[in-house]
Amino acid sequence: MQYDVAIVGASFAGLSVASKLGGSTLLIDRKDIGSHQTSACGTLVKTMEEIGCENSILQEFDTAAFHVGGREIDIPLYDRYCTIDYKKFCRTLFRQSSADFVKASASGAKGGKIITDRGNFKARIIVDCSGWPAVLAKSVDENYVKGGMMSFGIETEVPFEDDKLRFFIDRKIIGNGAAWLFPAGKKSRFGVASYAGETNLMQNLRKFTDNHNVKMGKVHGGYFCYSLKRPCVGNIFVAGCGAGQTLPLTGEGIRRSIIFGLKCGEIIQQVIDGETSLGSGMRVYENLVLKYRKRYKLLLKMQEMLPETSLWKIRLVARLLSFKPVEKYVQKMYEKI
Ligand SMILES: Cc1cc2nc3c(=O)[nH]c(=O)nc-3n(C[C@H](O)[C@H](O)[C@H](O)COP(=O)(O)OP(=O)(O)OC[C@H]3O[C@@H](n4cnc5c(N)ncnc54)[C@H](O)[C@@H]3O)c2cc1C
Repeated sequence: MQYDVAIVGASFAGLSVASKLGGSTLLIDRKDIGSHQTSACGTLVKTMEEIGCENSILQEFDTAAFHVGGREIDIPLYDRYCTIDYKKFCRTLFRQSSADFVKASASGAKGGKIITDRGNFKARIIVDCSGWPAVLAKSVDENYVKGGMMSFGIETEVPFEDDKLRFFIDRKIIGNGAAWLFPAGKKSRFGVASYAGETNLMQNLRKFTDNHNVKMGKVHGGYFCYSLKRPCVGNIFVAGCGAGQTLPLTGEGIRRSIIFGLKCGEIIQQVIDGETSLGSGMRVYENLVLKYRKRYKLLLKMQEMLPETSLWKIRLVARLLSFKPVEKYVQKMYEKI
């Protein structure tokens, strides 16, 4: 059978693309849908509401606490953030689509086919939402995934209750990176990430959890790819982390993967409906994504400056953000990225 659209990756980006498609669509993932959480799953409440997934919200926050060199500075949030139940989110978004699902591991794309360990799947349009490995894009352009432009993070979910999203710039925990504590109901997600892509972070995470007198549970994690790339390779659309759509500095990737994924899906549907050609659909998608390049670069500059910046300067910025009008302005600007 030839599908109209085949998507590899049934997570934030892939499910968002699929939710906009009305034709015959195939979603391929090596894991069952929603079974493999890699993220702290913190995002804006309004993003969840906009895509009809507010049922997956576990906890909402009107305050973020910044811990800089041992001191806490509370920042009131203009738009509320939340933590979500990843499985519930994925299943809810999947139900909004008419896609078929196949559990298979893809290794590449060739001649309009996706090659997997469960056979090949033909489709008119192919979308790579496989996250940082960008398996399909990489099979067409071997330089598509560049290791140097990725952060790496791990986290553990343990019983611990709190009422703020907490971020830590603590060089005793991690030098070039950050740590976080995201409460999610009766549990909290404790994590550390290295901006340098350092993968050996177990000691750092242990130190962080020890500081809060909690015992590390199961650990998950992965790379965050933050260098915004051309999101079309050959005839393949790429959305989400694989296209470098995770934000530098904050590591926020859910919102951007959803926004770009929805746009990608809308454009593909126009191609399927014959309203536009594949070529011009790809150009529209590329232009839409790449217009954000300057904003991503600005955040990247800040990420690169962070390890060199003295703690009192970072504290000063956090203090400024603790004033409601300043925070409202900065958050509004940030949400435009
Ligand atoms: C530790 C950590 C914490 C994070 N916390 C947050 C946070 O709190 N908030 C936030 O906004 N962002 C966070 N991020 C970033 C966020 O997780 C990513 O930006 C987001 O997951 C990207 O979504 P995606 O759909 O592009 O890719 P992914 O969510 O990585 O999904 C890729 C999918 O493709 C599948 N896949 C991969 N390879 C293959 C293959 N060969 N064949 C078939 N299927 C395949 C995978 O199984 C997976 O389902 C975090 C990242 C990490 C690592």
